[in-house]
Amino acid sequence: MIVGVLALQGDFEAHRRILEGLGAEVREVRTSAGLEGIDALVIPGGESTTMTLGIESEGLAEPLCDLVRAGTPVLGTCAGLIMLGRDHLGLLDVTARRNAFGRQVHSFEADLELGGIDGGPLRGVFIRAPWVEEAGEGVEVLARLEGHAVAVRDQGILAVAFHPEMHGDSRLHQWLLARASERNGEIDK
Ligand code: GLN
Repeated sequence: MIVGVLALQGDFEAHRRILEGLGAEVREVRTSAGLEGIDALVIPGGESTTMTLGIESEGLAEPLCDLVRAGTPVLGTCAGLIMLGRDHLGLLDVTARRNAFGRQVHSFEADLELGGIDGGPLRGVFIRAPWVEEAGEGVEVLARLEGHAVAVRDQGILAVAFHPEMHGDSRLHQWLLARASERNGEIDK
């Protein structure tokens, strides 16, 4: 199982550690060649404007979108959620509002129950986090904070507004790996 972690910018190292802890082989993806043969993808938090520039200069948008449209599961966190949304890669039918909790509110933490993720609340770290302003049909809202959607899913795409990796909670990464092995099983049949 090879999990690609988009490593143009942002906190990809933390995702790498969690995934390796779960026994996955991790590949830091910086070019389109790096996307070849991966079973799942993580788009980390960081800065969506910088990430967009990196994706453009590497010509990554098209191969990345092809991969996800073919069913490769993806986990997007924070800026990763923004990248998946309508205004960027357009893989997830949501409008993300950047810095939605207020720029001045640099960072805070909250415990969230996510639909479909067992084991009690997950401690999310929100750093200049977005929220989902509007979600299309087919997008399931898994968690809200102050009434705003902060975790959403559409089939194999899971996107959260916060950083689940900072306290070492690996449940969303486990979800990603489970989804990838389920899909690999279907392909092998
Ligand atoms: N505010 C950042 C952006 O708009 C996202 C912050 C994050 O990923 N922690 O890209």
